Amino acid sequence: MTVATPAPTADFTGSPARVLVCRGCGTEYPLAAQHACWECFGPLEIGYDPAALAQVTREQIAAGPPNIWRYAGLLPAGLDPADRVSLDPGFTPLVRADALAAELGLRAPVWVKDDSANPTHSFKDRVVSVALTAAKRLGFTRFACASTGNLANSVAAHAARAGVPSMVFIPADLEAGKVVTTAVYGGDLVAIDGSYDDVNRLCSELVETEEFEDTAFVNVNVRPYYAEGSRTLGFEVAEQLGWRIPEQVVIPMASGELLTKIDKAFSELVEAGLVEPPAGGWRVFGAQSAGCNPIVTALAAGVDEVTPVKPTGIAKSLNIGDPAAGPYALAAVRRTGGWMAEADDDEIREGIRALARTTGIFAETAGGVTVAALRTLVKEGRLDPAAETVVFNTGDGLKTLDAVAGLVGPTYRVKPSLKGLRAAGVMG
Ligand SMILES: *Cc1c(COP(=O)(O)O)cnc(C)c1O
Ligand SMILES: [Zn+2]
Repeated sequence: MTVATPAPTADFTGSPARVLVCRGCGTEYPLAAQHACWECFGPLEIGYDPAALAQVTREQIAAGPPNIWRYAGLLPAGLDPADRVSLDPGFTPLVRADALAAELGLRAPVWVKDDSANPTHSFKDRVVSVALTAAKRLGFTRFACASTGNLANSVAAHAARAGVPSMVFIPADLEAGKVVTTAVYGGDLVAIDGSYDDVNRLCSELVETEEFEDTAFVNVNVRPYYAEGSRTLGFEVAEQLGWRIPEQVVIPMASGELLTKIDKAFSELVEAGLVEPPAGGWRVFGAQSAGCNPIVTALAAGVDEVTPVKPTGIAKSLNIGDPAAGPYALAAVRRTGGWMAEADDDEIREGIRALARTTGIFAETAGGVTVAALRTLVKEGRLDPAAETVVFNTGDGLKTLDAVAGLVGPTYRVKPSLKGLRAAGVMG
């Protein structure tokens, strides 16, 4: 494996970010466009100055805008609004889901954090806004990504808003709803005849080339900055609960990064003195589809190593067969006393319908995976039905209509007359 030469180090003055630190061996590097450790090839993440994080107050956050930038003091970039490359995502609804709780047999409050309400209708707007704001600071002049769908939408839209050229790489077999909602923004869209893992490997090769020197791949060469944007979901849930951390969270996993970063956000809020942890701590639960379950399989087998799979099934946004943050997701779930569950395609469809029926939220397949996993975790006694639980819906059902299109439709088909309505039983 070769490692990209970092682009010139940009000035991150004013941000609480201090270094890039290897998640494997702890080696530190200056803030730059680098994503892998030269010592052990482990992934890098942002290291903050704890004193700078501890200076942030609830009052400062409350005085900020109603989007992720209210947490700018906790992010690696974007403190100055003029620097931001952003659709201003975040501060999405946290919806109390009593009917869903009743259906699944939970006795304590259940909340759905509905990130389909973001500008391009998935949680990816959070990570892209942070990644591209950092990318601009690092001097990149073109934006790109390897995507399972939602990331493609978000990068193309952010590039359009910023007036920056983009090139987005996707597997050719993505849902039409995700291809159209990327292409419409006008950047280059490259469909690869292969899996997401093929696309990702190709992009890892591209960032090394001279032709792509000017290009920030949000989830490759600026991945450490990208990953930090997911923390805003953890910050928001805590703030929206009145500065409390819920006892249990259920999170969908593709690379596993989102799960690790929500857990990290909770830890940081406690360390910064912004919240008290729940008396028994919080427990983190992960969800994958049965067609792409390498992290769930590793947990069930009691091993640290995640063996890659060839993904199948309808939850395409989660179809990463070789999940980069898999071992860290396992560690977070084990450390907090949580668990993981998988859902097959029929369970995913039923999960989508159950959430829609009980909350009025229409989730994409990833949301169906998460609701189905919640059902299984309760049934298996892994998740405490008497503890407060937050479930993350990360995407919008309008992008994956085919998942349920054949299962739901008009209740009646009737001639346009009262007689016709009566005959069909519409009037009782
Ligand atoms: C990307 C994505 C995820 C998970 O992302 P990771 O951080 O890679 O685990 C979850 N849900 C949806 C809808 C996504 O698009
Ligand atoms: Zn290392």
